[in-house]
Amino acid sequence: MRTCPACGKQTAKDDRFCSGCGTPLVPEGPKDVLDDLIRDYQKELTDKPDDASILYNLGLTLERKGRPDDALAALRRVHEIEPQFGDVQDVIQRIERRKQNQERASAPGENKCRDD
Ligand SMILES: [Zn+2]
Repeated sequence: MRTCPACGKQTAKDDRFCSGCGTPLVPEGPKDVLDDLIRDYQKELTDKPDDASILYNLGLTLERKGRPDDALAALRRVHEIEPQFGDVQDVIQRIERRKQNQERASAPGENKCRDD
């Protein structure tokens, strides 16, 4: 079951528009492509488990896939291997920040409509 990103109403799997507010329900991304990429990176990592660039790409792909915890695990590993690798520190911070925001947004008891 998916929910509308605009109003949060639950939508049927095949709905192309939200029945509540009419927002087009675009899939989050080409998920099959992301799955394939993740599988490829993981396969490469079995041969080269300490390859920072593969881990980095895996981390970014996991983030796009909506798996921030797995993404952070891969990116923290990059940071261990090569602390100066690309913008890995920035990416880690960005994901952590977003994760905190999401956890705050979905925390039980924090109703958006409370102040009326
Ligand atoms: Zn909606």
